[in-house]
Amino acid sequence: MDDCRAAVITAHNKPLEIQRVPIPELEPGSLLVKMVASTLCGTDVHRWHGPLGGSDSLPIITGHEPCGIVEEINGDRTDILGKPVKKGDRIVWSYVACGSCYYCSVAVQPCICRGRASWGHNRCDQHPYLLGSVSEYMYVPSPCLIIKVPDEVSSPLAAAAACAYRTVMHGFDRLGAIKDHETVVIQGSGPLGTFSAAVAKDHGAKQVLVIGAPAHRLAVTKKMGADEVLDLDVVSDAKDRVSWVKDRTDGRGADIVIQVANNMAVPEGLKMLRDGGQYLDIGAGGDANISVNSMPQEMTYLTVRSGEPRHWLQAIDFLASRRDRFPFDEMISKSYALDQVNEAMAAMANYEVVKPVINF
Ligand SMILES: [Zn+2]
Ligand SMILES: [Zn+2]
Repeated sequence: MDDCRAAVITAHNKPLEIQRVPIPELEPGSLLVKMVASTLCGTDVHRWHGPLGGSDSLPIITGHEPCGIVEEINGDRTDILGKPVKKGDRIVWSYVACGSCYYCSVAVQPCICRGRASWGHNRCDQHPYLLGSVSEYMYVPSPCLIIKVPDEVSSPLAAAAACAYRTVMHGFDRLGAIKDHETVVIQGSGPLGTFSAAVAKDHGAKQVLVIGAPAHRLAVTKKMGADEVLDLDVVSDAKDRVSWVKDRTDGRGADIVIQVANNMAVPEGLKMLRDGGQYLDIGAGGDANISVNSMPQEMTYLTVRSGEPRHWLQAIDFLASRRDRFPFDEMISKSYALDQVNEAMAAMANYEVVKPVINF
């Protein structure tokens, strides 16, 4: 086997092409994985529309949310818990921080490592070619930490854990414990918002309030732990949305507000937060001016980027251990074949689906 089929972005905003891409020789410690599922993320759509941060150069294989089965390993490998990894294991795997820069070694904040390797934006005409997830095979570089996927977790959910859900776990890690009298407001009802609702409820929040759209996404969010939802398509005035939150928090505002929509939602979210509360900013894209004088007193503003390897594990564990409490499968809204990648990207771009999956 010399090559495999993959969905390639050859030009921004043009349909993706299914191309044959070389399968590289395995370097010591690296793996070749036969893909089972790849979910798509908003970031894939942004990269398709144009270079992110001006750094992507084409062609690239799209996708960075992979789950696959080990086809070949060069050498002995263990997973993140120290168990041997064998051919046939179903796995996800972490991004790779360099381990030696200031952020890795002194600050111990590996998610902002300047030399970090991640997927879905590397040129696929350069070795090791297969670093995007909408592909029949993926190359797993040797420094990646491996997380085995338990039988209770479906491949599409495990794939989504590899980006969206592990980022949420990282965010909750930074928030710390949620007290049982606290209210959490979530701005956004996409994959991150829906999963955040489940984690907030599970971590003990008294009430979880979600503001988003469209209605079919909010319906899923409700099943995933939201006590009440507010539809942006119905309540279009930001003042009314702030009042909705204040009415449910004795006029104080929420203890925690999580932004998983777009940075344009931040000024409104800060108005929903009580003095001394925590604002967790996860959603990317957009921009807004924040007036420092209008920020709640003694508040904490947190941002997260991606996750550390343990957050991959936490997301997979959450999906496995809370499966009787939350109908996680409803977060994956539609399946596509590799040849239908353009339909899947369009559905994601138009907010028609919470999370599309490419099955192989
Ligand atoms: Zn993603
Ligand atoms: Zn580093």
